Amino acid sequence: MTGAPAQVTSRPLVRIRGLRKSFGGQVVLDGVDLDVHQGEVAVLLGPSGSGKSTLLRTVNHLERPDAGVVEVGGELVGHRYHGGRLHESGPRTIARQRAGIGMVFQQFNLFPHLSVLDNLVEAPVAVRGVPRRQAAARARDLLERVGLAGREDAFPRQLSGGQQQRVAIARALAMEPQLLLFDEPTSALDPELVGEVLAVMKDLARSGMTMLVVTHEIAFAREVADTVVFLDGGRIVESGAPERVLTDPRHERSRAFLAAVL
Ligand code: ADP
Ligand code: MG
Repeated sequence: MTGAPAQVTSRPLVRIRGLRKSFGGQVVLDGVDLDVHQGEVAVLLGPSGSGKSTLLRTVNHLERPDAGVVEVGGELVGHRYHGGRLHESGPRTIARQRAGIGMVFQQFNLFPHLSVLDNLVEAPVAVRGVPRRQAAARARDLLERVGLAGREDAFPRQLSGGQQQRVAIARALAMEPQLLLFDEPTSALDPELVGEVLAVMKDLARSGMTMLVVTHEIAFAREVADTVVFLDGGRIVESGAPERVLTDPRHERSRAFLAAVL
């Protein structure tokens, strides 16, 4: 990763327009428009059930939108235009697109039967065809970067939650993603382990990684986010620079949310 500063270019890396999604008649995303530029960190805040996870999952087509489009790196995700209409892409295209979008979950989701090193080596070898030796060398560098040099041979169950989540971040980085999605990455951790994971995320943000982060860590949002986005009832009710949105929220729903978590 380079130390490139956040760069605002005219075309956003992530461009979401008119996104809608319902589950069994319940509207979960109700027309979401969102841009995230290269090198930016956008933090998504909002109450439970507001659609944050669904929005993240739609970005890498783990959920199919009912309407609207997601573009990453100028390419439609999960869809293509054909004959003037939107069609779902084939599984190979979707797999290739997902390979460039890393995702970090609340529950780590490491492969329990694989060593730490093999957790990082698996996807680059299987999906990208990287030679194993090269993938292993890169994995060691990444483990060092997240503060886990020397733990290559451990299994996930032998690590603390904070260590497992740092492995999960390193595993996402092993695919050299153009974008990282985080869904409440510290919510399952004991409080004393939250800081070590946030520190790794701050380091990534500083290195220029583009990140879309769902979290309730307001201090992290204040320090690291370029944009804070409030979601409520499947709509973006407010977004802007953290110093503005977090100190002077204008929408009643974002005020209520902040009052509850601060
Ligand atoms: P958040 O992450 O903000 O808590 P979610 O995106 O997980 O919100 O969920 C928003 C709403 O959509 C919730 O009411 C949830 O129950 C519902 N939901 C999410 N995923 C599914 C699904 N696969 N099937 C049915 N309902 C779902
Ligand atoms: Mg969620």
